[in-house]
Amino acid sequence: MTRGLPSDGPKAQGQAVATAPPRTRPSHRVAVVIADVLILDLDGVVYIGPDAVPHAIDALNTLAGQGIRLTAATNNASRPAPEVGDHLRRLGLRIADDDVMTSAQAAAAHLAAILPAGSSVLAIGGPGVSIALTEHGLIPLRASADLAAASAAADAADALLMGYGPQVAWFDLAAGQWAIDRGKPWVATNMDPTVPQPYGRAPGNGALVGLLQRSTGRDPVVIGKPQPTLFRAIEQRTGAARPLVIGDRLDTDVDGARAAGMRSVFVLTGVQSIHDLADRDPATWPDFIAQDLRALLGPIVTLERDAAGTARAADANVLTDAVIRIHAGLPVGPVTLPEAALPLIDLAPLRRDTVSP
Ligand SMILES: [Mg+2]
Repeated sequence: MTRGLPSDGPKAQGQAVATAPPRTRPSHRVAVVIADVLILDLDGVVYIGPDAVPHAIDALNTLAGQGIRLTAATNNASRPAPEVGDHLRRLGLRIADDDVMTSAQAAAAHLAAILPAGSSVLAIGGPGVSIALTEHGLIPLRASADLAAASAAADAADALLMGYGPQVAWFDLAAGQWAIDRGKPWVATNMDPTVPQPYGRAPGNGALVGLLQRSTGRDPVVIGKPQPTLFRAIEQRTGAARPLVIGDRLDTDVDGARAAGMRSVFVLTGVQSIHDLADRDPATWPDFIAQDLRALLGPIVTLERDAAGTARAADANVLTDAVIRIHAGLPVGPVTLPEAALPLIDLAPLRRDTVSP
């Protein structure tokens, strides 16, 4: 795949520009300016359950056509990377299996680094967990629906790896508890409390890990986002100069991007909403907000205070208004955008204002 700017790269000249403050910076094909590699979260960004998020596939394929490499970093450990890649390609996305990385792969790599080759690992989660262990030279053990067999699996295991899978049953959790109580290292692929499903959000791996934290009084080593492991592995693999993380969760995707020193887009098609920003220190806000992934094809709208100290927003744009309203203490003024629909909102100036008044 190609990387870097296309020969007819983005140009700002000749476009309509707002005639009054605030300083908006409209530019087409902006994503090419701010990214050479997109690192996509998947659940809530590209798909929800089996179905594509509206507009996501077309927008991403357009970006791929502009020379941006598409990669994926998912905390969802339930399926192996090639199966995730098949799902994405069935939805129409142009992405290679090697550009899909799961938290199960990163967690298995971690265990392979701390255990002798051929060690046994109790695997709690979907097939993606067991397959990742096998790929890294470890032997996955599964608990069966039998107390004695579950206890034997806990005894035989050298460690426990826990990742999301809708197949997880009480016997798996009981075997996990025994492995932990018997002092085996405990690794979790991720701690997402929820996973988006077509009928609403459902308990994620973090919720199941929380159950064992409560019953054992212990905590696992966590590998997935917001740890920077997945993002750094993709950066290394692709040689990205301007990686841009796109996610629907602040506590995993956005925090993970910041931990990896990367910029992030918070897209509002998944489990969190713009109101979740209100609970956070603005210093931890994402760099950009997008209503959906079409925003990556439109202008960037940078919100700044003008000379009078007023941060202005597009009065016709609900999203932009909401960003301002939850930013306590900032008066709101109107502005006319050259393209009011679906801008990519650049939050960095407001963040700076708050951190260094
Ligand atoms: Mg997500």
